[in-house]
Amino acid sequence: MRVRDSQRSAVYEWERKAIKDFAPLLKRQCAKQEAQALVEKVWREQAARVGQRITRLPSLRFRSRSGLCSFYYRHKHQIAISGTSVWLILHELAHSLNCDNVAPHGARYMAIYIMLLTTYGGANNAQLRASALSAGLKVFDRFHVAAQLSATIKNFLPGTLMDLAVSAGVSYRAVQGALIGPIRRGEILRRGQVYRSTP
Ligand SMILES: [Zn+2]
Repeated sequence: MRVRDSQRSAVYEWERKAIKDFAPLLKRQCAKQEAQALVEKVWREQAARVGQRITRLPSLRFRSRSGLCSFYYRHKHQIAISGTSVWLILHELAHSLNCDNVAPHGARYMAIYIMLLTTYGGANNAQLRASALSAGLKVFDRFHVAAQLSATIKNFLPGTLMDLAVSAGVSYRAVQGALIGPIRRGEILRRGQVYRSTP
């Protein structure tokens, strides 16, 4: 199932303002070599930590023609950037570190992106997180999907699989996986199509 990317434009809007207000240094343009080094450093330090199963580095391509936007191509595992500002590279890096069964700009993406902005951009984690939440964005507390998702899903009960997937911004499959633990522990039960917490 394809996951709807319902936060996309809200993330763009938030990052423009948040970077201007809280982390203006991240607008700095870096040299190509520095961009490449940043990609390598982030991947070496974070891939295993965020549970990324791909172990090889993403390739980095610089787009020279203006008007083209930056993008992470999952099938090629390639980051293509149309500028070299630090925040832009971190934005695409966060996509490359995210898994493919969640919304591209969803709650898990935001947790990873904010972590990168904080760790590699010197931004303040609490400040960024608070501003994202007040902009109405969903942000996971952690980036480990199963544990965080199990906790998150409980906020949206009762609901069907579809309700829960839409609310949490993840796929059916991710919800099903996250339900296994709580159901086994007797914290969530299913009646018909509806999942609810045990009384
Ligand atoms: Zn994006």
